[in-house]
Amino acid sequence: MSLDIHLFPCLDDNYGVLVHDPASGITASIDAPDADDVRDALEEKGWKLTHILVTHHHHDHVGGILELKAETGCRVIGPKGEATKIPGIDQTVAEGDKFTLGSAEVDVIETPGHTLGHITYVIPSAKVAFAGDTLFALGCGRIFEGTPEMMHASLRKLAALPGDTAVYCGHEYTLSNGKFALRIEPENAALQMRMKEIESLRAAGKPTLPTTIAAELATNPFLRAHVPAIKERLGMTGAPDWQVFAEIRERKNKG
Ligand SMILES: [Zn+2]
Repeated sequence: MSLDIHLFPCLDDNYGVLVHDPASGITASIDAPDADDVRDALEEKGWKLTHILVTHHHHDHVGGILELKAETGCRVIGPKGEATKIPGIDQTVAEGDKFTLGSAEVDVIETPGHTLGHITYVIPSAKVAFAGDTLFALGCGRIFEGTPEMMHASLRKLAALPGDTAVYCGHEYTLSNGKFALRIEPENAALQMRMKEIESLRAAGKPTLPTTIAAELATNPFLRAHVPAIKERLGMTGAPDWQVFAEIRERKNKG
């Protein structure tokens, strides 16, 4: 089965994503950063909004929901753990839940850390995941509500998806993430090569997404806390992976 996926910039550095199933005509917006931007994207593609799939409650992911719902009558699906914080929510989902979107089956993975109820949507048949603000290209979300151990466990769940899974994230932070990643792992040849590609994409005004799980496993320091060379560089040889992850996150927070 095939889905059409449309990625477009929203607000300052958010991304909107539309997922369209041509067979059924169903169109889902992953989050709703801004009603105007989502509406423009729908008009450009000629698609009618039927669903909004919410990853977490932050305003730059839910701000457009009520306006879009009023206009289209779309169904709003979101995390059970944050149901009270998500305007217009019709259906809550949690770890292990499955639901259908046209001809596609969607799996729900709980990925807490950035927020406590954050979820990721995976469509195995299309080999695609919508990770919100949990996993970014070459980075990960800030830990606002959870603990480093919790965020590390969430990222390990995503790391376990098939390597060729395309990952859509909530923001375009790849260039600055990559500069930080090179400080953690300057000798990583795959990372050096990827940064060259990223620099030319951004110079041309193009998005660096989607990424893939395989690319992140090879280059994203937040998915590489288990790598002995990284532990050694941080002076943490023998430390548990999640503590190494916590140290990397702390260094990134300091800029
Ligand atoms: Zn967020």
